[in-house]
Amino acid sequence: MSQATESDVREDGIIESVSGPVVTARDLDARMNDVVYVGSEGLMGEVIEIEGNITTIQVYEETSGVSPGQPVEGTGAPLSVDLGPGMLDAIYDGVQRPLDVLEEKMGSAYLDRGVDAPGIDLEKTWEFNPEVEEGDSVEPGDIVGIVPETPSIDHKVMVPPNSDGGEVTSVESGNYTVEETVVELDSGEEIQMRQEWPVRQQRPSVEKETPTEPLISGQRVLDGLFPIAKGGTAAIPGPFGSGKTVTQHQLAKWADADIVVYVGCGERGNEMTEVIEDFPELEDPITGNALMDRTCLIANTSNMPVAARESCVYTGITIAEYFRDMGYDVALMADSTSRWAEAMREISSRLEEMPGEEGYPAYLSARLSEFYERAGYFQNINDTEGSVSVIGAVSPPGGDFSEPVTQNTLRIVKTFWALDADLAERRHFPSINWNESYSLYREQLDPWFVENVRDDWPETRQWAIDTLDEEAELQEIVQLVGKDALPEDQQLTLEIARYLREAWLQQNAFHPTDTYCEPEKTYRIMDAIKTYNDAAFEALDAGVPVEEITDIDAAPRLNRIGVQEDYNEYIDELEDDITSQLRELY
Ligand code: ADP
Repeated sequence: MSQATESDVREDGIIESVSGPVVTARDLDARMNDVVYVGSEGLMGEVIEIEGNITTIQVYEETSGVSPGQPVEGTGAPLSVDLGPGMLDAIYDGVQRPLDVLEEKMGSAYLDRGVDAPGIDLEKTWEFNPEVEEGDSVEPGDIVGIVPETPSIDHKVMVPPNSDGGEVTSVESGNYTVEETVVELDSGEEIQMRQEWPVRQQRPSVEKETPTEPLISGQRVLDGLFPIAKGGTAAIPGPFGSGKTVTQHQLAKWADADIVVYVGCGERGNEMTEVIEDFPELEDPITGNALMDRTCLIANTSNMPVAARESCVYTGITIAEYFRDMGYDVALMADSTSRWAEAMREISSRLEEMPGEEGYPAYLSARLSEFYERAGYFQNINDTEGSVSVIGAVSPPGGDFSEPVTQNTLRIVKTFWALDADLAERRHFPSINWNESYSLYREQLDPWFVENVRDDWPETRQWAIDTLDEEAELQEIVQLVGKDALPEDQQLTLEIARYLREAWLQQNAFHPTDTYCEPEKTYRIMDAIKTYNDAAFEALDAGVPVEEITDIDAAPRLNRIGVQEDYNEYIDELEDDITSQLRELY
């Protein structure tokens, strides 16, 4: 987070009252959303309400010791992030202070009051390779140079969106700090690698386009049944022990996003510690580099002040937009948006606002949609295309999806991946419930799958969905009367559905091959099961008893396709064996 460098000289205010993270001050010369420094320790806060000469501030740090009569200093600048090389590989707190720097200054990352630290290293030098020459004219957003930021990602240095642009009068390759001028314009403007951007303001774009490409996750249940688009939104509830962590790691590792921004918001300290400890160990399976080379972590744990949950969400989305502007596909994961909503509830109650449903403020839904609205597939102002996909975790208390945060989120997002504790208990992983989950992108993304995978992707998938639906209905009957009471064709459907679940939907994140499944393989497994289905029903029609059909020894081999590296050969052979073994029965 940036210090308020361009601050005007402003009148200090005097604290009137302190109620947890909410502080009121009188006679403060400030505007809405300005950053202010509160109390003798100068704790960072943000103006959230102004009435007459009383200003209400939410403070992003623990307020014990802050008391009426102490000063509040305005900065004249809104809450902003520092943008530039050095954000990848970083781990920030909710107001973009690098945790390692805090730790150095304070001895602990969690005792961080009144310490300011720039979001990007101001002393480090970066190799700047110009993309423009003297005499070129540049406009806002234009890429003026490239910095090899990490082995995985080239950082594109851009003309700030609020610049006037102009003609380049001076530019030279070399090593620079983020504050040194790398390009001079005829207007006198000097461009540095560092930009600031107010977190509550969406970065400009030319237009938001309809997303047409999937964000491929390599997870069959997601790509096959509930795909999210690049630039799409998804929600994932995380009842404890349901496999949320593994699912998130899988997405961070395998989703075909260039950049991952992971916002840990208000989760229990040990969960976040897990992320902070795990992520730096993870390897990017695609490049072999460290996963952190394309990842930015923002960590606000439950023992950090609640108000900072809000700032960490906005900080994360702003960083995501900045990389989007470079033409990258960014995936932002926020875990958990419910904790952010709880922070809104707490602040709102301290403001004595009229509570809405279950005590959440009436603007809960507006805030959530404002956040998810910033996702999308964009044509950027420099004519590149980039996307921000947002995957938000929700943590409904007791797994009850009817509570307001889940309900409001589901009204906004277009994909819902219902993690299910029962499935996890039955060791069905990933434990995404195929009856409750949905994706509104399915049809919209079909042309991509048709063009890039197979012509009959939509039909084959529909067959799989119908079969699983039928299974769900039949299971109800089976529970009452037992499987043997069903007619033979329905018994056969149950058997086929079992293979869809076991061979297709289940996927072992810890198996070196099965951990990632390319769309072609996702298709071929589904299609192999359909081949068995079609041949099996032919045999049934020809009078073969269902037990004989389900007993063929080729069928169980379906369950091993996932772990096959040379799956094409394996499936070709298996399909031949299945059809010939069934053919022998009549
Ligand atoms: P949560 O974060 O919801 O508490 P985890 O993600 O840690 O749960 O998952 C709990 C356990 O479930 C893991 O340790 C692992 O054994 C198993 N598991 C979860 N997802 C998968 C998966 N996709 N493949 C294999 N095992 C899984």
